[in-house]
Order: sequence, then C-alpha cells, then structure tokens
Amino acid sequence: MNLKLNVAHLYGDLLNTYGDIGNILVLEYYAKQMNVELTSEIVSLDQQFEESKFDLAFFGGGQDYEQVIVSKDIQNKKEALTFFIENDGPMLAICGGYQLLGEYYISAKGEKIAGINALPHYTKSQDNNRFIGDIIIKNSETGQEYHGFENHNGMTFLGNGERPLGTVISGHGNNGEDKSEGAIYKNVFCSYFHGPILARNGELAKRLLLLALKRKYPTSDFTQQEQLEIKPTY
Ligand code: GLN
Repeated sequence: MNLKLNVAHLYGDLLNTYGDIGNILVLEYYAKQMNVELTSEIVSLDQQFEESKFDLAFFGGGQDYEQVIVSKDIQNKKEALTFFIENDGPMLAICGGYQLLGEYYISAKGEKIAGINALPHYTKSQDNNRFIGDIIIKNSETGQEYHGFENHNGMTFLGNGERPLGTVISGHGNNGEDKSEGAIYKNVFCSYFHGPILARNGELAKRLLLLALKRKYPTSDFTQQEQLEIKPTY
C-alpha cells in the first residue's frame, strides 16, 4: 500500500522564527524511513483550514507582531481547527502557535491577544523578562527526555484536561513556577522548544507520525514503522 500523509503548516509564512520549519523536514526524514510519502502545504491568512485534507498539523512560533495578525485571522479557522483537534487530529504547536491554541496571550506590551480556546491554557506576560536558554524535560508516560532551547516572554498555565509534555529538569518551562513544560491534549503536542524540537527529539516525531498513520489507516499494521530506531542526537 502507498502510505501518504499530508501536513498543514499553519501560517508557515508568518510564524517561522528560529527555524521551526525544520520540524517538517524532520517529519519528512522519518516518514521516508517508514515508507511514507509526506507532503505539506502552508495554510495562511484568508485561507480555509480544510481539515479533511490533512493528517497532521504543524503550528510554529513567532514574534508578538505576527501573532497579532495571526490572532485575528485564526478566528475564522477556529471551528475547523477545533473539529480537527476534537477528532484526534495530531498536531504539533510551538511557542506562539501553542499560545494561540489557548484562551489568550498577554503580549510583552500588555496587549491581550485572543487565542481560539481549543485548548484550556492561558498565557500571561512577564515584566521585562524572557525565559531564554537550553532546557531539558522528562515525559512521565514514556520516560523520554526532550532537549531544546526556549525563548519566550509568555508564562503559560495549563487548564483542565491538559497534561504537561514534560517535567522540567533544567530550564524554565511553561511559567518558571510549576516545573511543567508544554502541553498534551488528545493528540495535540505543544511546547516552547525551538531548535527545532523534532530535530533533537526524534521519538516525538515518530510518535506524531504513528498517530497520524493509525488514524488515517485504522485497519493497517504498523509494526514495521513502530520498530524504527531513533538515535539520540544530543
Ligand atoms: N511572542 C511569544 C512570546 O514571546 C512567542 C515567542 C516565540 O514563539 N518564540 O512568548
């Protein structure tokens, strides 16, 4: 069988600081090893998110300026994105994208930037400070450690039904207070990690690809893909 996955790169022309697009290159790299043809397309301003066309979604991070623009436009995609998420669509959202999936983000200037409230977290602003630096976390379900680099003003607090992507071993994480980093809600994985996250954390790329494959081809056997060996890159 010809296995195919199509990725929606949400606002890839606006939210792509720190090379977050590398996450799509990493997905392509592992998809190839799984004998899966992976394609991607940008879904940006004034375009619809046609959820039935996509098997995975990726939403990168960005500056406050671009986030304000995206915040207005994404309200028109709120229904389709929420439908995709509630129907177990796999998604990876980084930093600014992570913030916009939640209730709101208070920018460095104190502006309230609306999210789509698809996930129950909210993000406050720090006073004249950013969390910048290397970070290591541990995922409690798999025991996997994830390594990355964070750079954010926002302090995110998780809501009911969300669990953290990991517990902070070193670095700041969601808010510098509760040792949580990122969020998992259904098949949505959120994080503040740049670097890009999947380049250093191939196990997470594998997890996303397997979720997408099993959802799209529910009667197929993916034992071979599950056995793909990921070598640590840190
Ligand atoms: N502008 C947001 C913040 O500073 C997101 C930053 C980012 O995506 N790196 O928190």
